[in-house]
Amino acid sequence: MHHAACSHCLAVEAFRTLGALGILGVVMALVPAGPGLAGAAEEPGRAGERKAMVERISEEAKGLDFILDNGGLDQAVAEAMRRVPRHEFVPEEERERAYENAPLPIGFGQTISQPVVVAIMTDLLDIEPGSKVLEVGTGSGYQAAVLAALGARVHSIEIIPELAEFGRENLERAGFGQVAVHQGDGYYGLEQEAPFEAIIVTAAASHIPPPLVEQLAPGGHMAIPVGGQWFTQQLNLVEKGPDGAVTTRQLLPVAFVPLR
Ligand code: SAH
Repeated sequence: MHHAACSHCLAVEAFRTLGALGILGVVMALVPAGPGLAGAAEEPGRAGERKAMVERISEEAKGLDFILDNGGLDQAVAEAMRRVPRHEFVPEEERERAYENAPLPIGFGQTISQPVVVAIMTDLLDIEPGSKVLEVGTGSGYQAAVLAALGARVHSIEIIPELAEFGRENLERAGFGQVAVHQGDGYYGLEQEAPFEAIIVTAAASHIPPPLVEQLAPGGHMAIPVGGQWFTQQLNLVEKGPDGAVTTRQLLPVAFVPLR
């Protein structure tokens, strides 16, 4: 399972991670696709760009062995991210940049998360085929698609009606129409579908919403950024033991748009 680190090491590692994740504003160069890497069924080069993106984030994740199992990014998560066409989840004018390891605007002041953050949060959830998962903050639908590509049964809830529609359309077009997108306030979770083996919150909350802890199944994991302003948020991992006991750990600094 995830091994704990001493608080000093954690602080040092977390600081290193902050830099490694590019939150300090480092813009990563786009690695051009090699010849012959493109998938036959889509725009030339995009599959190659995607492969290069996953290689880059796998490299970054190696430095995160203090929070990830087996010293790096889970192979199934990497494979899922090689399969999901991120360019189908960003607005037309951002498609060119879809495979940069960067968050991108999706309208309404919201963003599609940085790929390495998607990778880390997904890995922390320990998804298995058939797992029932709740995502709070559908946005573009990209994170939901990555979960679905891992074989999860995904419910995603979005508070902005236009984005719920945007996410739904993107998921449909990319071949993930099985994801159930709901419109509403995810603070309260989705009582009628609970319990969930995993919950992922993709907007920063001031505290961990009690209804979400309630709706987490025994043995389940929840990844959630907690904090107020940019740079003061911490990615939290909440684990509910088989006996229902809840433990929470702060893992690393992250920057998310606020939960409303
Ligand atoms: N997971 C998304 C990232 C979305 S950004 C992706 O892969 O693209 C965060 C999203 O959370 C925004 O779309 C925002 O509108 C939504 N959000 C904010 N507060 C919310 C709430 N209380 N309930 C549901 N969604 C919320």
